[in-house]
Amino acid sequence: RSITVDLGERSYPIHIGSGLLRDIGRQCVQAGFPLRSPLLVVSDSEVAPRYLPVVEAALREQGYSVVSHVIEAGEASKSLAVYEDVITTAIQAGLDRSSAVLALGGGVVGDLAGFVAASYMRGIGFVQIPTTILAHDSSVGGKVAVNHPLAKNMIGAFYQPTMVVYDLDTLSTLPPRQVSSGLAEVVKHGLILDREFAYWCREHASALLALNADALGYALERGCAIKAEVVGNDEREHGQRAILNLGHTIGHAIEAVGGYGVFLHGEAIAIGMAGSALLAAKLGRDQAIYEDTISMLSALGLPVRLPAEYSEDELMEAMMHDKKFKEGKMTFIVPDSIGVVSIINDVQQSAVREVISQLKKEGS
Ligand code: NAD
Ligand code: ZN
Repeated sequence: RSITVDLGERSYPIHIGSGLLRDIGRQCVQAGFPLRSPLLVVSDSEVAPRYLPVVEAALREQGYSVVSHVIEAGEASKSLAVYEDVITTAIQAGLDRSSAVLALGGGVVGDLAGFVAASYMRGIGFVQIPTTILAHDSSVGGKVAVNHPLAKNMIGAFYQPTMVVYDLDTLSTLPPRQVSSGLAEVVKHGLILDREFAYWCREHASALLALNADALGYALERGCAIKAEVVGNDEREHGQRAILNLGHTIGHAIEAVGGYGVFLHGEAIAIGMAGSALLAAKLGRDQAIYEDTISMLSALGLPVRLPAEYSEDELMEAMMHDKKFKEGKMTFIVPDSIGVVSIINDVQQSAVREVISQLKKEGS
């Protein structure tokens, strides 16, 4: 199965299926990467032992020379220091303008390797090979970045991959918390644009959590297609692309205040999406939006409440520092109903504060 991200000259395919890693060499030939230019595979310490040998073998079989760089698994590797290490490997391996960087891993590897591809010799080929559910989101759309100690994703670029090769077989080794975390972004795609799909995710939650191949294949195809559509309409986030940030303003604040990794990204944005639904009720939308949203998230094993120890002041402060905060007002993506959202630019801080305190109280 294949989906196209439609961006004129920079359009690219997302191949989704089973057994695709073994075929990656042929895909690279087809994509036009010349055999004389070395390829750099970036992966992490969890993914590399499982899947790197297959990828290296598939590339070498076609006649490519391959060098691999394995980073320590985890968000801490999305740093300028690790970025420099990878660049060093690229220079030493003699990567040239026709070379490509292949990102084999989750969003951390994809974001880091993508920024290497975007900046090495002002941009070389880039292939996303996502191995997490969450990376159905991060591998599509061309946002690449590393973190600064003071702010996440602060150093980056828009740089679209040449192709995305999504081998669903790799997902079988994901730890259960990573499965739920990734499904948060899947259901988010339903919540912003596809009402039926959002309810479908709730109905098939146990199949998705059990990594049932049919259910997961459909969900990821739909999730990628929605992301591709939004990005195709607004690559550089001048307007509509911002709807992809549903739950992220509060979610990023939770990640920043709690410390990265306390809540996984998807878990933090699940709480954030519950917050957006509370905000919707405050702005006069149907209360049923909140109830449906939390039932979907809970069914997928995701948290929908904020632990009491999170300070409202610290969360508000973190949101002020977030790049989505402009000129004294806060911008929020607010659901109008399940499957429809609006970008609201003038949300009062007091309303956000109330939502946060409600997120702590609800049911706890
Ligand atoms: P991740 O890359 O850290 O992967 C999660 C964990 O799972 C890691 O420990 C990893 O080693 C392990 N893992 C990966 N694949 C595995 C597999 N198949 N089997 C077993 N273990 C595996 O995290 P993630 O959740 O994939 O991505 C989060 C990152 O993505 C964050 O840095 C976030 O900022 C970024 N992100 C980027 C975008 C974007 O548009 N660029 C969008 C959303 C998130
Ligand atoms: Zn996200």
